[in-house]
Amino acid sequence: MSVIGASPAVGLFCVPRSPPRDIHRFRMAVRSSAVSVAPIFTKLKHECATPLPLLRHVADAMAADMRAGLAVDGGSDLKMILSYVDSLPTGYVCIYVYMYVSSGIGVPCHFDPNSLGGKQERVIDTEFEQVSIPQELMFGTSEDLFDFIASGLDKFARKEGGKFYLPSGRKREIGFTFSFPVRQTSIDSGILIKWTKGFAVSGTAGRDVVACLNEAMERQGLDMRVSALVNDTVGTLAGARYWDDDVMVAVILGTGTNACYVERTDTIAKLQGHDSSSGRTIINTEWGAFSNGLPLTVFDREMDDASINPGEQIFEKTISGMYLGEIVRRVLLKIAEAGTFGDSIPEKLSTPFVLRTPDISAMQQDNSDDLKAVGSILYDITGVESNLSARKIVIEVCDTIVKRGSRLAGAGIVGILQKMEEDSQGLIFGKRTVVAMDGGLYEHYPQYRRYLQDAVTELLGLEISKNIRFILLQNRQGKTRLAKYYVPLEDSEKHKVEYEVHRLVVNRDPKFTNFVEFRTHKVIYRRYAGLFFSLCVDITDNELAYLECIHLFVEILDHFFSNVCELDLVFNFHKVYLILDEFILAGELQETSKKAIIERMGELEKLE
Ligand code: ADP
Ligand code: MG
Repeated sequence: MSVIGASPAVGLFCVPRSPPRDIHRFRMAVRSSAVSVAPIFTKLKHECATPLPLLRHVADAMAADMRAGLAVDGGSDLKMILSYVDSLPTGYVCIYVYMYVSSGIGVPCHFDPNSLGGKQERVIDTEFEQVSIPQELMFGTSEDLFDFIASGLDKFARKEGGKFYLPSGRKREIGFTFSFPVRQTSIDSGILIKWTKGFAVSGTAGRDVVACLNEAMERQGLDMRVSALVNDTVGTLAGARYWDDDVMVAVILGTGTNACYVERTDTIAKLQGHDSSSGRTIINTEWGAFSNGLPLTVFDREMDDASINPGEQIFEKTISGMYLGEIVRRVLLKIAEAGTFGDSIPEKLSTPFVLRTPDISAMQQDNSDDLKAVGSILYDITGVESNLSARKIVIEVCDTIVKRGSRLAGAGIVGILQKMEEDSQGLIFGKRTVVAMDGGLYEHYPQYRRYLQDAVTELLGLEISKNIRFILLQNRQGKTRLAKYYVPLEDSEKHKVEYEVHRLVVNRDPKFTNFVEFRTHKVIYRRYAGLFFSLCVDITDNELAYLECIHLFVEILDHFFSNVCELDLVFNFHKVYLILDEFILAGELQETSKKAIIERMGELEKLE
């Protein structure tokens, strides 16, 4: 099983953060007698702990809730919505402008409907456009919101103008991805069940959102029509299939969260009168509504009570980007009251949603001894002045909340895989299964990614979740310049492995292939001048994919050290390991886009 970062991400609009509800008035120090922070913190850590048995329980509960939701509508917290997307794209796609509207970013893609060629040929171009939804529209009327979206589309279409071939007499067709819970009634219609992610637009719930957009486009005289309504998670799954046929699950971790997966139609009891020639269909779980067995604290309960949808979307409120920063803020407020940050409590710290998830992420990237960046972010955003020990507490609080959220997300993913495996013994765990990951939270929060991956590995066991066993970079003389093991080995064993691999690859005739059996596995290697890059993988794994992977690593090293040589690796080994972590995590290829990795490294460098 592997988790990849799939990112044919799509979207159009950007949500302004911090819902205006519940803005607290100025509040001055209400510090009673000095209370110690330690008990608050100990309690928090204890209540947020996610040991393996708890994660197992959550995964089991997720699988059970999925089953109940498939049996009958309303059977569980999970709506388990039929997507009406039965045939995953393997060839012909007829969408001219693929556009999705969510609170996220916009990436309309242009597919060439006439091309049946390879993957590259199918997507003839992509263009990005990002538009913010003005805050007042999040609380306004349905018409105003959809008019705004239609006018955004109009502007976009005008800009790209005649660049894309459109057969005469045809309207521009739009794939509409809408990242809110919709009860889909056909491929081009769906009823909004309710708004989430802080939206409270009147007059849309209960209506067909495709009609809402089509009407708005008509009102503005646009020559466009929605031909497919695709939930954003379903869009991610379908999109990821262009690049990898083993993608069976897609998960979005952004402002909100959701997951979908490929289900066998014969296991869906509530499915009536829906024929699927493929025998499979994509189910949109709407897993944000999950609530079973989650470790919650008083901070979560208070945040939920103050929300626009109390008692709902509890999983989302525990694991997604909209809420992590706010939970941390609530904890910080509590420890401020205990005197951690001096005698007064700054007004800003009492303002709901001032501290956003990107802020806590930025603080967690501060590796300096004095945590200077933590101090300045805290001060700029919350008005809190902190000394070093207070900053350390802040980081611990961020880590506790983020670790809980990401590990629970990992348990949710395993729950989905478990459900699929139960119905198809061996077809999920017995072969390669890929989970496509998307969303700003997963993409930009390194700790979140790592904890999530760790939880998945812990739950599935080392064997099943890892493909790459180790990576070695050695020179001709046998000096190992980089060694990364994804399976636990004793030091003495590591030395043996390094010795054996070196002998194996250096002495091999260059006329032979670059794949060679090694014990019960195989080594894929590649030589660059005097350096040998070797990867150890399963006998059955795809050699060419790993050869490519080695080459990508070298290209990225080249980018950073311009014409990388052995000395660069010796003197910059920290950085080399960092780069490696950006695309291979826990033995799995995370990212195959050179651009994305270089961008991420750039972000990390900025923080240094
Ligand atoms: P959406 O989920 O709204 O469609 P995205 O997938 O782009 O949009 O995710 C945006 C969310 O990702 C933000 O609301 C934020 O919670 C999270 N996010 C964005 N940047 C960062 C960052 N640098 N660190 C942590 N989280 C981030
Ligand atoms: Mg999104």
